[in-house]
This record gives sequence, C-alpha cells and structure tokens, in this order.
Amino acid sequence: MIYSYTQIANYLRCPRSYRYRYLDGWREKETRPAMIFGRCFEKALEAYFCGEDCGVVLYKEWGAYREAGFEYKKGETWDQILRQGMQLLQHFVQSNRIRISKPKENIQIKVTRELPNANQFVSYIDAVGELDGTRCLIDWKTTTSRYSEEPAGLLSLDPQVVCDSWAAGIADVAFVVFVRKHHSEIQYLRTCISEEQRREFGQLVSATIGQIEAAQFPSHSGIRFPQNGCVSCSHLGLCLEDQKLIDSNLIRAAGANDLAWLDELVF
Ligand code: SF4
Repeated sequence: MIYSYTQIANYLRCPRSYRYRYLDGWREKETRPAMIFGRCFEKALEAYFCGEDCGVVLYKEWGAYREAGFEYKKGETWDQILRQGMQLLQHFVQSNRIRISKPKENIQIKVTRELPNANQFVSYIDAVGELDGTRCLIDWKTTTSRYSEEPAGLLSLDPQVVCDSWAAGIADVAFVVFVRKHHSEIQYLRTCISEEQRREFGQLVSATIGQIEAAQFPSHSGIRFPQNGCVSCSHLGLCLEDQKLIDSNLIRAAGANDLAWLDELVF
C-alpha cells in the first residue's frame, strides 16, 4: 500500500470517514474555489521560477474554471479571485526573497519513504530553496486570512509541515502565505522541526497504518459543543443516511482507490 499525509490525517480525524473515502471510494465533489485556485496559483509560481510569464499561466489555469459553477463565498467572484492572485504574484516577484535553483528538480518534489510490510509513504514537497539566503523546505499556502504567528513556535506544530520535514529530512521550513483579501499580503514565516518531532511523526504513521491494516474504522465525530467536526465533513450524508446530502457533496469512484496517494498533488 502507498500512504500519504492526507490519508493519515483523514484517519486520525475520523476512521469512519477514512473508510468511506479510501475503501468505499466516496470523494467530495470539487465545489470549493479556494482549493482549486490554490492549485492554479502554485502552477503560476512554478512557471515564474522556470522563467515563464506567471500572470499568463495563472490566467490560463484559473480561466479553465471560469464557468465551473463553484459555490463562492458572499461577495466573492471569479474575477475578484483572479485580481487578488495577480496582485499577489506581482508582490511576490517584487519582493524577490525566495530563490529556487534547478526549479524542475526542486519544485513539487516527490519523496518516497519505505515502510515496514512493503508499504510506502509518498509526499509531494512544494519546493526546496532559499528564503533570504537560508536553505529550507518551502510550503506555499493560499488563504483568505493571515496565519497566526503567536504564540512563538506555533507554526512548528503544523502537522503537514512536520510530515514534509520528516519525509524530506530537512529541519528548516518556510511558509510563504499568500493572503487573498482586499489589500493582498504575503507572509514569509519560518519554523524549525526538531528531530524528535520527526521521529514521533514516523511513529504516528506506523501506529496509524497498523490500525488501518487491522480494519479499525470506528466513527470519531469529535462533537463537543460548539465545535462539530461532522458539520464540515464531506461524509456527513453517509453517516446520517441523508441521500440529498450525499448527492450534493459526494461522487463515488469505482471500488477501492489504489491511487489515493495522488491526493497529495491536489491538497
Ligand atoms: S460525519 Fe462525523 S462521524 Fe461521520 S464520517 Fe464524518 S466526521 Fe466521522
């Protein structure tokens, strides 16, 4: 089996949701523009480092979704998101703080780790390069709100970054956060993942795979007023046996999904 961060994180959030997604093949329909736009934006960044016109690439990539019928937030439009993206690209180029040599090799890097029982863990690292001259693993984020920097050290707890650091064996990490808002902004944030965190993450991966292989899929709703993780879970319709919710949120792939690790290219 090939595992990925998305799979492990999904299992840890709710094993029942993992079963629905990875064993039964229920996938969420892509109706959220933010996620698709993030993917288009990363392609534009890659084009920039490869010496191409990143604005043209963003327009082409995002243009493919102009008539996609996304569920936009109140006041948000396709044009507005494009404008924000163009503004962010301009700021990014002007700030010139990130350097990536050999971009074909150092952007969207596939890293594979061998695990016991012939399992593998696959990660896609956004990039490895330099922020202000210091070599680090780079994580692009596109968001509509600023990343919280307080209290100090908070960013080192980001589980995806711990995973990437574990997979790549690189301690220094830079978050480049592209904040889409009225006055768009880019945050350049640094953190360091300790060797102990990486070791613990490896243990967490092994323990989680052990539970998956033992077919342990209890529901873990995590409901605790006022937070209710089920409300934002795409599999809520299945748990409630609500056909209307299933039809509006999910599509079902045929059989178990052997290529689930490819989600890493998406999320
Ligand atoms: S709706 Fe709740 S219990 Fe059901 S799969 Fe999602 S998180 Fe788990």
